[in-house]
Amino acid sequence: MDKSLVKRRIGIAFFYHESHTFSPVRTGIQAFYEEGYHQGDAIFEAYRGTKTEVGGFIEVLEEANQVLVPLVCAAAIPSGMVTNEAYEEIKTKLLTSLRDAGELDGLLIAMHGSMVTPKVSDPEGELLDEIYHLKGSSFPVAVTLDMHANVSYRMLSKTAMFFGFKTYPHVDMYEQGVHAARALLDFLTTQQPFYAAFRKLPMMPPSVNMRTDIGPMADMVHAAIEAERDPDIRSASILGGFPYCDIPEAGASVIVVSTNRIKAESVASQLAAKLWGERERFILALPGISQAVDDALQQDTFPPKPIALADIADNPLSGGTGDVTALLEELLNRDTQDVLFGALNDPDSLQACMQAGEGATIALSLGGKLSPEFGKPLEVTANIIRLTDGKFRNTGPMNTGLQIDTKCAAHIRIQHLDLLLTGRALSANDLEFFRHIGLEPSNYKILALKVKNHFRAAFDPIVSQVIYVDGPGLASNQFKHFTYKNIPRPIWPLDDI
Ligand SMILES: [Zn+2]
Repeated sequence: MDKSLVKRRIGIAFFYHESHTFSPVRTGIQAFYEEGYHQGDAIFEAYRGTKTEVGGFIEVLEEANQVLVPLVCAAAIPSGMVTNEAYEEIKTKLLTSLRDAGELDGLLIAMHGSMVTPKVSDPEGELLDEIYHLKGSSFPVAVTLDMHANVSYRMLSKTAMFFGFKTYPHVDMYEQGVHAARALLDFLTTQQPFYAAFRKLPMMPPSVNMRTDIGPMADMVHAAIEAERDPDIRSASILGGFPYCDIPEAGASVIVVSTNRIKAESVASQLAAKLWGERERFILALPGISQAVDDALQQDTFPPKPIALADIADNPLSGGTGDVTALLEELLNRDTQDVLFGALNDPDSLQACMQAGEGATIALSLGGKLSPEFGKPLEVTANIIRLTDGKFRNTGPMNTGLQIDTKCAAHIRIQHLDLLLTGRALSANDLEFFRHIGLEPSNYKILALKVKNHFRAAFDPIVSQVIYVDGPGLASNQFKHFTYKNIPRPIWPLDDI
């Protein structure tokens, strides 16, 4: 019988969080409910047809006529550490569903790789350990990882099938889901084992210059793709790490997956040496807030296109609280015209807007509540232009089709500035983020955004330039602002190596 026609039962799971250990905010179970927490068949409803890792898993398995066994999918947007209770609850549900699923031939699991809880510095490593404890050491598991994963030796100790994102902005989540699913099916068909060569580097590159269209990471990803031209190299992943995790597992790494151990080791060594050699290129000197606003105001593009001011230090997708007011204050002090600011995370102000209603004018104490050390709330008078429930689907190219819920939204006008208020911290990664409430980003001269690089996937076509701003915030590019206690030392760029 043709082995490729065998119907196998494959589990599908997703447990994803990027945890900023210096953030005062804790990521509880509610944050997973807000972003996506699904069990069983609800997983199909949430992810089938989406350009996500799980969307890729589902598509490959359905095309191959396999039996899909949806277990648990839980993701929350980057924030402070996941609470012990939320982690234990999701982990227990996942392991219970795995146990109750009966005989499985394998598991596909999408993880970030930089989750942290107050008790566990390497939850992904622990989870994989517990999966193997439950299912036995020969149980095949294929894993997708975010490019910003702090990969541990523990994670690599049980399975070799790791597939990291190759794009930042992350627009290849679906493709890596497809690769992982195909690798798992190939293994089940051929029983030829994969081997993973792993290199952990003593470096924590800042992510602002980790884009994959230009710069050092673009060159690294290009080298990885070149290596994958060898049919023996199944996957080569460059993981930049997430530098806001004060954990022993912090740092960049390289994983090369192959059926040929010698080739895997050789390619991993070459890529690791190249990454180390490129390190200084990850450092960018950025303008402060005042200089950045000056620079934006001086630009005159024709035909006119917006200039994006990227408030990287308060980027929610790097763990920023999304309510730092420093850039907003500068723009209001100058009474800047034609500015769209968004989004500011302030559930209290949003609630006040909801109560006052569209068309009302109210006094607000805006932002500065979650991390007041980076700036106080701003006392403003705002006109409420429009209110929505904050629900829409992404138009892409990142996470296309994924349902987003901003926990209500308000378009308010302060002086000559239009501002989007949301009920939780979110990056403006999709044009629908503004358009769903009637704001058209391409109509403004300046877009002041709480973003780092993901937004470029959607916004690059409509902006003339991106200016990265060195402002205050939890996701600051300047690591010297953080008191690290647990990372391995020495580590670049904090230490001279
Ligand atoms: Zn990432």
